[in-house]
Amino acid sequence: MGKGLDARGSVHVLCYHTFMNRKTDYDVAPEEFKKQIEEMASMGYRFVKTEDVLAGRVTGDNNVWITIDDGNNSLNAVYNSALKPHGVKPLLFLYPGILDRKSVPYAMSYAEIKGFLNDGASAGAHGFYHLFLNEKQYKKDKKEFLKEIYGSRDTLESKLGRKMELFAYPFGVYSDLARDELAQAGFKYAFTINHGVVQVPLELNAEPLKLPRFLVTKSSWKNVRGILSKNLNKPRKS
Ligand SMILES: [Zn+2]
Repeated sequence: MGKGLDARGSVHVLCYHTFMNRKTDYDVAPEEFKKQIEEMASMGYRFVKTEDVLAGRVTGDNNVWITIDDGNNSLNAVYNSALKPHGVKPLLFLYPGILDRKSVPYAMSYAEIKGFLNDGASAGAHGFYHLFLNEKQYKKDKKEFLKEIYGSRDTLESKLGRKMELFAYPFGVYSDLARDELAQAGFKYAFTINHGVVQVPLELNAEPLKLPRFLVTKSSWKNVRGILSKNLNKPRKS
C-alpha cells in the first residue's frame, strides 16, 4: 500500500480468449458471450474502461473490466452484438508473433486492432511468441525471454502508436524474473490468471505487476458468475 491513497473502488478483471463456436474450453460461443455480458449488466455490474481504471476514476465494487487475450479475430463476431449495446470497451492483450500474418488466418491485422482502438478499446502486450516467462525459459534462452517483454513492447508501440504499460503473462505463468524485467521495460501493471479482485487506484495493489484476473472458459463461467454474484454490493472495507 502507500502513497497515502485510499481505495476508491475495486474491479473484477475477466479474461476471455475466442468466440468461435468451437469445442475447446477456452472458446466462448458468441451467443453465450452475449448472454454473459447481459447477465453481468443485469446483476448490476458496470463495465469499466482502461483509461478510467488507470486514472483511478473507478468507484464502488460492482465493476467488471473485460480483457481479451491473444488477438483472435473472432472478436469481430461479438463486438457489435455483445459489447456495443453495453458500451463495453475491452482491453486487448496481443502478441505480435501471430498478428497481421497471412499464415495465421485467425489472428487480427493491425488495421483491425486499430479499428477497435479508435472505438475506445485499449491494448496491452502479451509476449512476443506467447512463451512461458518462468525461470526455466530464462535459463534456456535469455534472448527469447527478453524478446517476450521488450520485443512485444517495441513492436506494438510502433505498429499501434500507443505506449504499452499493461502486460498479461502468457498462460498466466509469471515469475519474479519476469516481473522485474517488466518493471525495467516500463510496464506499470501486469496480469496473471490467479483469482482475485483488483483495487482501484491500481497503485494500491500489493503486487501491481501480478494483478489477478478471472479466466472465463466454458467450464469456469459458472464459478466466475457465482463469485460475481457473491461479491455484488459487498460493503466496502475501510
Ligand atoms: Zn494468451
